[in-house]
Amino acid sequence: MPPSKPLRLLLSNDDGVLAPGLFALKIALEAAGHQVTVCAPDRPRSASGHAITLHKPLRLKQVPLADGSLAWAASGTPADCVALGLLEVLHGQTPDLVVSGINHGPNLGWDVTYSGTVSAAMEAVITGVPAIAVSVASYADDIHWDGAAHFVAHTLAPLAAAHGLPPATLLNVNAPDLPEGDLKGVRITTQGDRQYVDRLEKREDPVGRPYYWLKGRLHDKESLPGSDTRAVGDGYISVTPIQLDMTSHAFLRDLKGWAVERG
Ligand code: MN
Repeated sequence: MPPSKPLRLLLSNDDGVLAPGLFALKIALEAAGHQVTVCAPDRPRSASGHAITLHKPLRLKQVPLADGSLAWAASGTPADCVALGLLEVLHGQTPDLVVSGINHGPNLGWDVTYSGTVSAAMEAVITGVPAIAVSVASYADDIHWDGAAHFVAHTLAPLAAAHGLPPATLLNVNAPDLPEGDLKGVRITTQGDRQYVDRLEKREDPVGRPYYWLKGRLHDKESLPGSDTRAVGDGYISVTPIQLDMTSHAFLRDLKGWAVERG
């Protein structure tokens, strides 16, 4: 592949500014010639969805990463970090692309609703900046970041910047946790139907009062052909276009048939 134009990128995540997945992606993006500014949460913020902080102040500070470079750490959520990155850290200079990740864990199917990683990308596209969310679909301690990092740095980010993305649309990337050489390839996918079982665990504290853990074990039913879950399960990197318009256009027609509208 010919060398691509260097891109100006804002990099964030939801695992926190010191997370190894963010660092792996930063190194890969810079090795591909891109210019990377990091603005990420100052602590882990997974499963924070698209929460933003309105009723208390946000703080920004610079922290050194493992390569000695300085990153911006914010006291808020992933969406806060992207807003602060675009409005303050970059002094309003719009980057070519916002990249979020690499998340430690899958963001497949309905996961995107809970995901701080995907919400950081959503915050970017809401403000008109194209964005990519990146995850490796494993909670193992020792993760293979390289396949996802190199694919985004050398292929997907340059393509997204060159083609542009439609308004209010982002790309959600999930890679299997495999050595780069063992990846089967890349698939364009739809969101899978991902269901969890055993979602609640109830326990008792030492004085006999109940307390609860929300959790969930993935229901290992057959995932649909063409879905993100199937692609990752089959060893492919999955790329799903996600749009913010959650209107059910198919059901809209039937709903009008209910004669709900008045006036
Ligand atoms: Mn996370």
